[in-house]
Amino acid sequence: MSKLKNKIAVITGGNSGIGFGIAEAFKKEGVTGTITGRNQETLDRSVKELGSGFTGIAADVTKMADLERVFKSTFEKFGKIDTLVVNAGGVVDGSPMASITDVTEDNYDGYMDLNLKSAYFTVQKALPYLNDGASIILIGSSAAHRAAPGMTIYAAAKAAIISLAKGLSLDLLERKIRVNTLSPGSIDTPAFDKLVPHELVEQVKQAWTDLIPVNRMGHPADIGNAAVFLASDDSSFIVGTEILSDGGMTNIS
Ligand code: NDP
Repeated sequence: MSKLKNKIAVITGGNSGIGFGIAEAFKKEGVTGTITGRNQETLDRSVKELGSGFTGIAADVTKMADLERVFKSTFEKFGKIDTLVVNAGGVVDGSPMASITDVTEDNYDGYMDLNLKSAYFTVQKALPYLNDGASIILIGSSAAHRAAPGMTIYAAAKAAIISLAKGLSLDLLERKIRVNTLSPGSIDTPAFDKLVPHELVEQVKQAWTDLIPVNRMGHPADIGNAAVFLASDDSSFIVGTEILSDGGMTNIS
């Protein structure tokens, strides 16, 4: 018996990488719902790949009106929302961050808006439409636990996600809505490829593979499987905490 049969989910950034992996894992468990991204064309392609049951809504998660539209439309189409995955995020404008001397205020705000502010307001805008007892999964990052050159602001925003999940869990206790952070390690996605020059991608992936204790990079399906657990009643005693899915990387010094 499927753990999530007939549940309705919204997955932000569900048209690519980790978000798409979560949508695929949900789909296998009988979930339907909405995936979002900014580009309707790529969304349509992803919806087609997922097969029936999913819909794609183009929305920028840094825009309040877009967020409101996503949840209102999903509720109108499906009649309820059981699971919210706050996944959209990552690098801004396709480039990794500059060193501290070169970071502009706009650059800083861009990272915080996409990776922290949007997460808070995605939850806020979803609340009127979420079922009591819903599961909210915030996608964090193992970067919150390990310093890396050029990742300072991104890592700080993702560290704040862990705190957000704790606070929101208390805020939403009365409605029995659980909020947890699911933090991926190095996952093979289009975003990962954008972090390094094209000709170095394979070399960098091999270097990561050698560093990760289980000797492989993660796949979006790894995060999808953990998200299924957090969305299901199997995790009903897991509240306001963080699950790391990183192949053991965070544990090595
Ligand atoms: P991808 O680039 O593959 O996917 C990112 C998704 O977010 C896309 O669907 C993109 O949609 C969406 N997105 C980005 N900016 C916006 C925006 N302003 N409004 C709406 N949607 C937006 O990245 P990943 O799958 O790798 O990353 C997904 C999440 O996982 C991110 O939060 C990232 O920080 C986190 N993560 C990733 C790791 C990795 O190793 N890959 C490691 C740890 C955490 P579109 O561009 O079409 O609008």
